[in-house]
Amino acid sequence: MTGCVEVGDPVRPANVLGIGTRTDERAVRSRNDSAWLLPTDGSRTNHRLREDMRRFDDEDEVDLVVVGAGAGGSVLTQRLARAGWRVVCLDAGPFWDPDRDWVSDERGSHTLYWTEPRQIGGSDPVPLGSNNSGRGVGGSMVHYAGYTPRFHPSDFRTMSQDGVGADWPFGYEELRPFYEAIEHELPVAGQDWPWGDPHTYPHHPHPVGGNGEIFLRGAKAAGIEARVGPVAIANGRFGHRPHCIYRGFCLQGCKVNAKASPLITHVPDALAHGAEIRPDSHVTRVLVDDRTGTDPVATGVEYLGAGRLHRQRARAVAVCGYSIETPRLLLLSATSRFPRGLGNDHDQVGRYLMVQGAPQTAGRFEDEIRMYKAPPPEVSSEQFYETDPTKPYRRGWSIQTVSPLPITWAEHVAAQGHWGAPLREYMRDYVHWATLGALCEYLPQPDNRVTLADEKDRHGLPVAHFAYSQCENDRLLTKAATASMEAVLRAAGASEVMTIDRYAHLVGGARLAARAEDGVVDADHRVFGVPNLYVVDGSTLPTQGSANPALTVMALAARAADRLTRRARRGLTEHQTRS
Ligand SMILES: Cc1cc2nc3c(=O)[nH]c(=O)nc-3n(C[C@H](O)[C@H](O)[C@H](O)COP(=O)(O)OP(=O)(O)OC[C@H]3O[C@@H](n4cnc5c(N)ncnc54)[C@H](O)[C@@H]3O)c2cc1C
Ligand code: SF4
Repeated sequence: MTGCVEVGDPVRPANVLGIGTRTDERAVRSRNDSAWLLPTDGSRTNHRLREDMRRFDDEDEVDLVVVGAGAGGSVLTQRLARAGWRVVCLDAGPFWDPDRDWVSDERGSHTLYWTEPRQIGGSDPVPLGSNNSGRGVGGSMVHYAGYTPRFHPSDFRTMSQDGVGADWPFGYEELRPFYEAIEHELPVAGQDWPWGDPHTYPHHPHPVGGNGEIFLRGAKAAGIEARVGPVAIANGRFGHRPHCIYRGFCLQGCKVNAKASPLITHVPDALAHGAEIRPDSHVTRVLVDDRTGTDPVATGVEYLGAGRLHRQRARAVAVCGYSIETPRLLLLSATSRFPRGLGNDHDQVGRYLMVQGAPQTAGRFEDEIRMYKAPPPEVSSEQFYETDPTKPYRRGWSIQTVSPLPITWAEHVAAQGHWGAPLREYMRDYVHWATLGALCEYLPQPDNRVTLADEKDRHGLPVAHFAYSQCENDRLLTKAATASMEAVLRAAGASEVMTIDRYAHLVGGARLAARAEDGVVDADHRVFGVPNLYVVDGSTLPTQGSANPALTVMALAARAADRLTRRARRGLTEHQTRS
């Protein structure tokens, strides 16, 4: 680890004591005490907080039941519990204990993924599993990489600006204060950011490892601007969370508690404010009372727990199950008034589901790079993010270090057709390779969607079918992004480069829209047609930019909670506030 960064503004040194970080501790604690609720005895979980957690009865009518304790669901639960709401958050997976459940081992981390059966189709099917799903309290962020860029202002108006994609029902400015709040709560470390809406980060940038150094060196030689960060990894002690130890197992669940996930950034504060997090509870249906002559209202959810079917009554319901399970649940919850599923009067549920094209390029160097010796997320560039009017494609891509561990490295090499002796040779050569990944803004398309398949899961429920096909713009972006990464690695001195095509992330499927004809939820995340039913997760994004989505999902959840509590303070019940 050397940290010889020369690009952009000067990189401040790692801040082991947290002194001089720009995080205002008092301001963070006034809205979220999570980092200070973690234990100080060297263990990673506040067991007392979990044991003493408030517990509601299924028969209690709580103010809100949240489905899914991931990026969206955890922030929503924490914010509303703080506001005094009685909240139960159900998650299909376990309540993770990093000491007990996680291992710094690629193969041993499979329990972190959503591996229930699903069907994929279309002309460019997207494999589902480790790379785009999570289960259990903390959701996908438990094993996400940790990059936390903001979206650009242009992402909120791609249709009016570039003639592709969609316009959101609100602009970037609405989300800015929530981006800032969440960046301080995670907290995010990085250099001052020049792209999109230029901003600074609360924690100084981390020192970089071999892969990051290659990216910075190659980018400078190729005339591309790259910056260190932004990553949601503590650079210095933050509350009772320790500093990163740079062992590189971020995608296996950080056993150190240095990398942010809702399990440690929002759940502790939610528990301390009276929320119940109920793990191992798979929601099978949103219950809606739609008797003729009354306005349809959500009354709670049905869920499977400990082998039994339960019902949790609630005055409002928020679905936060991510881009495949959220549309599936809305479709599974059909009633006589909503025979095609909730929010689906205009056949919008499941549509416009997006993945980012994520080609990955590796370069070989004479020196040992040892890319595993640092967090995979280190350095990124958004120089190609915006539409370049001189090019035949619209929108753009970002470039980031990715640093695959050995199994993922073997998959990279095998995807190039190397097998047997050549594959073994590339494996032995692993320490000499550096790897970059691009995130290309593939466009939202109506036929890229989730529907219910005929196949049933172990509970007898139809599984999700996800059809995905690329358009010509997507293919052109992939080609251009690949060329830019190869140029960086060649400029850094790579003697050989090796590129594979992949996908990353999922968003959309229950998108925000101004009108029911164009989406599933309104600007307040309320499902069209059922005013006390909300969707607050990655499925609500109308466009995806070429930024990783987690920070935006959390910021949207903080904004949705803010709007809910403001309305409640005005004394309006959910049923009185339909749009
Ligand atoms: C390997 C990997 C790397 C990633 N890297 C990055 C990155 O570097 N930066 C970034 O910004 N993003 C990254 N992401 C994506 C990011 O983690 C997700 O976009 C984000 O977590 C989505 O938030 P969410 O709330 O929509 O869903 P999630 O966080 O996935 O939460 C959904 C939760 O709902 C639960 N659930 C689903 N259905 C039900 C049901 N029926 N009943 C009860 N519970 C249910 C699940 O168990 C899960 O806990 C990565 C993801 C993966 C998998
Ligand atoms: S490299 Fe840092 S953030 Fe990643 S798993 Fe290790 S300690 Fe956690």
